[in-house]
Amino acid sequence: MTKEELKQNLDKINAELAGFSCQLIAVSKTKPIPLLQDAYALGIRVFGENKVQELVEKHEVLPKDISWHMIGHLQTNKVKYIAPFVSLIHSVDSFKLLKEINKRGKQNERKISCLLQIHIAEEETKFGLSKEEVIDILRSEEFAKMENVKVVGVMGMATHTENLEQVRSEFRGLKETFDELQQHYTAPNIDWQEVSMGMSGDYQIAAEEGSTMVRVGSSIFGARNYAK
Ligand SMILES: *Cc1c(COP(=O)(O)O)cnc(C)c1O
Repeated sequence: MTKEELKQNLDKINAELAGFSCQLIAVSKTKPIPLLQDAYALGIRVFGENKVQELVEKHEVLPKDISWHMIGHLQTNKVKYIAPFVSLIHSVDSFKLLKEINKRGKQNERKISCLLQIHIAEEETKFGLSKEEVIDILRSEEFAKMENVKVVGVMGMATHTENLEQVRSEFRGLKETFDELQQHYTAPNIDWQEVSMGMSGDYQIAAEEGSTMVRVGSSIFGARNYAK
């Protein structure tokens, strides 16, 4: 992809998000470093990745004023590699993982911002907590004692479907869950701010339904090729 095409893609998305309080997370997974450098030159400072090793490698070579977001399923044994620098983990899908993030946050003397990933899609395959599981975590004594994580919101992925009304209703449900959690749960390690929802196929709908962060990959960087 040329720098010109990249700029056109970014301009288009930014124009569509104008007027919404919605941050664009540039999902650069599988994309080569020079393309990320082009995006950086065009002003992008927040990148999302879904593989720990790739995230670490890209963090090492790209400028230090980039915020790196982990958006994919995270194995507990890999938290240690990203704990020193990651800005936000979107994909906290178990209490076990949150405990590990807290432990590694402590070792690195930082408070790691996290989103609780909530299962909103029809498909069984997507990771995520149920609303009940989220509430169990937030009410637990163990969570109350965690000083090195900060829960700043929720994340969800809609069903992969052409039915955009279904997608809209799943996003609406996640926003309602967020509002409810925000009303009922306050603690020093909670700061309800973010609803991370919306990808290339549905970010406009997500923005309309109250998303504060859209995670957009292929609409910025082009289709991914996993085969090579
Ligand atoms: C890959 C990915 C995205 C971006 O997907 P696109 O359809 O390319 O925009 C968003 N969120 C998560 C969790 C992802 O893994």
